[in-house]
Order: sequence, then structure tokens, then C-alpha cells
Amino acid sequence: MRQDDHLIQAASNDGSFRILAAVTTELAAEACRRHRTSPTASAALGRALSGTLLLGASFKDLEYVTVRFVCKGPIGGIVAEANSRGTVRGYVRNPGADVPLSSRGKLDVGALVGPGMLHVIREAGAEIGFVKEPYQGSVPLVSGEIAEDLTHYLATSEQINSAVALGVFVDGEGEQVTAAGGYIIQVIPGADEDAISALEARLAVAPHVTDSIRRGGSAELMLLEALGDLPFTVLNRRPVAFECKCSYDRAIAIVTALGKEEVTDMLDKDRGAELTCHFCNQVYFLDEESLMGIIANG
Ligand code: ZN
Repeated sequence: MRQDDHLIQAASNDGSFRILAAVTTELAAEACRRHRTSPTASAALGRALSGTLLLGASFKDLEYVTVRFVCKGPIGGIVAEANSRGTVRGYVRNPGADVPLSSRGKLDVGALVGPGMLHVIREAGAEIGFVKEPYQGSVPLVSGEIAEDLTHYLATSEQINSAVALGVFVDGEGEQVTAAGGYIIQVIPGADEDAISALEARLAVAPHVTDSIRRGGSAELMLLEALGDLPFTVLNRRPVAFECKCSYDRAIAIVTALGKEEVTDMLDKDRGAELTCHFCNQVYFLDEESLMGIIANG
């Protein structure tokens, strides 16, 4: 049985690790359907969305996290945004771009992303009108495989040692995402060195995250399989979803902001206006009547 998308926060019972894990199959599949991504771009986008959600959940409440991969590979760039309540949205610049499978027969996300930079922006309280100076961190990409790049970012920019695992399974035949998810395990400062070595040894032989998700596993089962005999406690569980902030009203506001002259021009030349949201690929069509309304009210 397939699990609904969810995210859990947990902690190891010995106090050494803070853990976040998520099953994101539905939201990754929805994003990839909306953007019509190639199989490798689906893996890249799915990993980026899952990683951004986990990152968003690991920071304080009311934070909004934006993760941008500015890269030279065929995908051209990836943007994902998540809040601490568990919603995420995102896109890739060239959704149709693809590359051959790696020599190990896997989707070669690293080759599709290529070299570049990872930028993470954290804003607190923007949604309630309380704006603090945003925190921004940037690091060069390590491999373009997303999880390794986020691990490197956390270590370098946030001084948090962690293990990040992200997986997206794309069904070979239907080219649909049929499993997605991952986890971030953060080392709490002062953690016992032996506990860290033991964790590294466990993770080195852990099954791939999509293995347990494909069997219908929850985030908790994924952790049980990854952590083996390391006891942990789940602190909370919440649903997660793909959700965009765009709307027809926002489309109207954007067109209104162009000014009367420009809108009159659209009306005369195109008899309407069409706007496509980058983040979710939703198309908003403003017909003649809507444009006349904007001109009359503007
Ligand atoms: Zn949108």
C-alpha cells in the first residue's frame, strides 16, 4: 500500500543525532507531471524538492527556504522553495533535457546538473509581515547529485555535520515517479565520536531510500532500515505536499502592475494575456473582458 506523503522529526535516544525523514512520492510525481520532466530531470527535481522540504523542516518555525542550483549542465538550473509547515514548490530550467544512463545503469543526475553553485536563502517571518534580514549561504556543487551538495552546504555554511540521502525512483516504462523520499541525519554538537563512527558504518550498508518506499514503507520504516539497531524516537509527523502560491488574482495583479498603456496594447494585439507560473506551470488566461476591467479600474 502506498503511503501518503509525510515528514517526521526524530532524535536518536543517545542524544547524538537529530533526524528528519520524508516520503515524497506524490509531491515529486505531481511536480514532474506539471513540468513534463525527462526521467533524469524528474530524479533531479524530485531530489531537490525532497531535500528542500527536509531542510525547511530542520530550521525554526516561520522560516521559508529557497534552494537554487545555478549550474552549467543541460538542466540549466533548479529552484525549490519550502516552508516549515511542509509545503514545497519548484522547477527546473530545461525540463526536457536528459543524459544517458551512468555506467552503473542509473539516472545520471550529476551529469545533468553539472558543475555550478548551490545557494540557500532562509527568510524568517516573511509570511506574517515580520521581515528579518535573510540569511544566504553559497557553496560550489560537489557532484551535482543533490544530496551530496546539500551535505556539503550544511557542513560548510551552517557548520552542521550531517548525512543526507535522497532518492527518486522513475518507472522505466511509464516514466512516472513511483517512489521518492529521503532523510537528513544531523550530528548534534558534542556527540560521542564512537556513536558517529557507528552511524557511518550503518549508513554505508543501508538500503537505498526508495527500496523501502517502493515496498510501501513509511518514513519511520525507512529510518529503521537505515539506522539498524540505533534506537530513535519519532517526535512528530506531518503531511507534506506540493503547493504553489500563484493564483488567478495574483495573475491579475501582475498584469495590472504593467500599467494601462501596456494592458491596452495586449488587448489590441492579442485580445487577451497568458501567464505561466514558473513554479507550477499553471497557465492563467486573462480574456478581453478581464483586460478591459483592469484598464477601467487601473
Ligand atoms: Zn504556480
